[in-house]
Amino acid sequence: MFNSYFSFQGHTMNPHYQVLFDKVPIGPVVAPNRFYQVPHASGMTEANPRVRAAFRGLKAEGGWGVVSTGAVSIHPSSDDSPLPYARLWDDNDIHAHALSCDAIHQHGALAAIELWHGGASVMNRSSRIAPYSPSGIGWAATHVGFMGQLRPKIMDTTDIQDVVRWQGQAAIRAKKAGFDIIYVYAGMGYLPYQFLISEYNRRDDAYGGSVANRVRFVHELIDATRDAVGDSCAVALRISLEELRAKPSNHFESEAHEVVSLLSEVPDLWDVKMDSSPTDCSASRFRPEGSHESIIDFVKQITNKPVVGVGRFTSPDTMTSQINRGILDLIGGARAGIADPFLPNKIKAGREDEIRECIGCNICISSWHDGVPVRCTQNATAGEEWRKNWHPEKFNRTSSEDRLLIIGAGPAGLEAALIAAKQGFQVTLSDQSKTMGGRLNFETALPGLSTWRRVIDYRLYALKQMNNVDLYSNSELSRDDILELGHERVVVATGAKWTKSLYSSLEIPVGELNQANVYTPDDIAAGIKINGPVLVYDFDNYYLGGVLAEKLAAQGLSVSYATPAGHASAWTIMTNEQPFVHQNLENAGIPVITQVLLQSHENETVGLANIFTEKLQQLAAKSVLIVGLRIPNDSLYQTLISNPNATLAAGIKSVDRIGDCLAPGAIVHAIYSGHDYARNLVTTRSDLYLRDIPIAVNPPGAVI
Ligand code: ADP
Ligand code: SF4
Repeated sequence: MFNSYFSFQGHTMNPHYQVLFDKVPIGPVVAPNRFYQVPHASGMTEANPRVRAAFRGLKAEGGWGVVSTGAVSIHPSSDDSPLPYARLWDDNDIHAHALSCDAIHQHGALAAIELWHGGASVMNRSSRIAPYSPSGIGWAATHVGFMGQLRPKIMDTTDIQDVVRWQGQAAIRAKKAGFDIIYVYAGMGYLPYQFLISEYNRRDDAYGGSVANRVRFVHELIDATRDAVGDSCAVALRISLEELRAKPSNHFESEAHEVVSLLSEVPDLWDVKMDSSPTDCSASRFRPEGSHESIIDFVKQITNKPVVGVGRFTSPDTMTSQINRGILDLIGGARAGIADPFLPNKIKAGREDEIRECIGCNICISSWHDGVPVRCTQNATAGEEWRKNWHPEKFNRTSSEDRLLIIGAGPAGLEAALIAAKQGFQVTLSDQSKTMGGRLNFETALPGLSTWRRVIDYRLYALKQMNNVDLYSNSELSRDDILELGHERVVVATGAKWTKSLYSSLEIPVGELNQANVYTPDDIAAGIKINGPVLVYDFDNYYLGGVLAEKLAAQGLSVSYATPAGHASAWTIMTNEQPFVHQNLENAGIPVITQVLLQSHENETVGLANIFTEKLQQLAAKSVLIVGLRIPNDSLYQTLISNPNATLAAGIKSVDRIGDCLAPGAIVHAIYSGHDYARNLVTTRSDLYLRDIPIAVNPPGAVI
C-alpha cells in the first residue's frame, strides 16, 4: 500500500500566492489555475505511450492546471530521427496520445499538444523527404547532432498549402485524442519561425518581404487549426521573440512588436520564449531565474489574450511578481515541473519550503540528446513513473525493523537516507566532514554553481524534519566502528577520488603524471594553493575542468586550458552550456587548446601533442591540474565484504555501495543510485526492466 508522505495538514497557503490559483479562460476552455506546464521534450516516443502518459499525468496530479506534450510532428516531412520525438501522423497515433489526455484529465487539468513542423531544422533521416524551408537555407547545419548533408528545398505554394492542410488534419486527430489546447509552433528554428525571420525567409511572393507577408504562413496555420477544432479547443501560438526583438521595424519598436501586433487577437493564447536552446533553456550557471523577461515583457501590452512564458521559475514570490507586474498571465514551467511535479500543490498547501527546486543543470536536456526518457538530477523518479512505479511523493512503507547505516553524506548518501526514511526505516547517516553534502560542498562554491546547492538543501531540510533519522557529521567510520554499531543494513556512499592519470591516443586513461606541482580537483578542494602559470588538462569533459580554470583565473593566476576533445567541456554540448563555457573562458583570458594529449611536465614546461599529427607544442606551466579519471573510494566497502563472517556475526544483513563509490558519475547518477537502492529495500519491481510497447489498433498503413 502506498503511504503518502506529503500532507496538506497543519499548513495554510500564504495568501499572497492566492493569485497563482486564479482560473484563466483560454478561448473556449478554462485553465483551473495559473500553473502551466509548457511543451517540453520528454524523450518519450510512440514506443513508450504508457511512460509518457504517467509522466504527464503526474504533473496534473501535482497541481499543474495545464499539461502539454512536447513537440508532436504533424507529417513525415517533419522527421527528427534519431531524436526521440512524438508523432501524430495517422489515426493510429491518436490512441497513444489519448492515454496521456486521460491521465491529465483525471486530475482536472487541461491537456495541450504542441503540433510541430521542423522544416529546415530536421534532416528527415527516416522519411528521406527533402526538408521544407522558405528559401532553401539550412538551420544549424554545422551543429553536431543537427549536422547533415541534405540542404532543404524551397517550398512552392503547393508545399505551403500542404503544410497548412496537415496542421488542420493533425488538429482534428489531436481533438479526437482529447486535447483541449492545440498549438501552432513558430519557435526555435522550426518551419513557421523560419518564415518570420528575414535571414531565412528571402521569398519575393506573398509569404516573404514585409513583416506582414512573413507572418502570413503563421496566420494561415492558426486559421487552419481554428477551422478544424476552434469551436471546442483553444488555439495557442508558441513563438520565439529574441531575434525579432533585436530587429528594428519602421513603425514599431521592433519586428517582435510588429509581429505580435499583426497577430495580437488571432490565437487564444500566446506562449512566448527565446530562440535557441542555450538561451531558451539556459543553465543556471549562465542565466538567472526569469531571464526571458527582457525579451517577452511587452507582449501583454499588445494583446488581450492570455500570455504564458517561462524562466526556470521555482520561487512563488517570483511567480506572483510576474503576474502582479503584468508580465505573464500563466506561469510556464518545464524544468520546474520535472524537478518537482508537485510544486503547485506544495505552494497551495503552504509547504513551499518542501519544493524540490530545479538546479538548472540541464541534465534533462541531455537525455533528449541521448534519445532516452527524461532524467533529472533533483528528481530520480522523473521518467520512471510507469516503468518503476516510482511516485515522487508517495512511498511504500516498510514493515521491517532493519536499521540503516549510511556512510557518506554526498548526493548518493543523502538521497538514500531520505528515501529510506520516507519508507519508514530507522536511518543513521554519518559523514567524516564537518558539513554534509560531499563533493557538492566544494563544487557549489565554484563560479556559477551555487544554485546546485539546492541538491543538499532540499535533502538536509527534509531529513532534519524526520524523527527516524540521525545525522552525524565529523564522524569518520572505520570497519570496526561499523561492526560495533551492527546496523542490519550498511550502505557505503564514500564517493570517488580524482587521479593523475593521463589520456592515451586510444582515448583511454593511462599512466600517471606523479610529480610535484601536478594536482587534481581534490587538491583544490582541500585548499592547496597552486602556483601559476597553470595548465588545466581536462578529459573529464563535463563542467569541472572549465569551472576550475575560471576559478584559478579569478584568483589572478595565469591559466591555460587544454583538452584532447574538440571543445572545452566537450560534453556540455548536451546540456546547452557549451557556447557559454567558451564565452566565459574567453572573457577570463584563458586560452583553449583542443585536440592535444598532455605528454610531459618538466622544467616548468608542459609538452602537448596533437592527437592526429603528434606534433608537439610547449607551454610554460609551473603547475598542472588534471581533471580526468575518477576512481571509487571503495576501500571501506572492500574491507567490509572481505570478511562476511565478521559482518554476519555483527548482525549485518547486507553491505552495499552506491553513488560514486559504485561507479563515478555526475550528480544525477549519484542521486539515482541512492534512490534506487532505497526503493529496492521495499519493492522488487524496480529490479525489472519493464518495457513499454507501442499501441497499434490498425495495421500499418491502414489509416492516414
Ligand atoms: P556521491 O557523489 O557518491 O554521493 P561524494 O563524494 O559526494 O559521493 O560524497 C562522499 C562522502 O563520503 C564525502 O562527504 C566524504 O566525506 C564521506 N566519507 C568518505 N569516507 C568516509 C568514512 N569512512 N566515514 C564517513 N564518511 C566518509
Ligand atoms: Fe532542473 Fe537539472 Fe532536473 Fe533539468 S535535470 S529539471 S535542469 S534539476
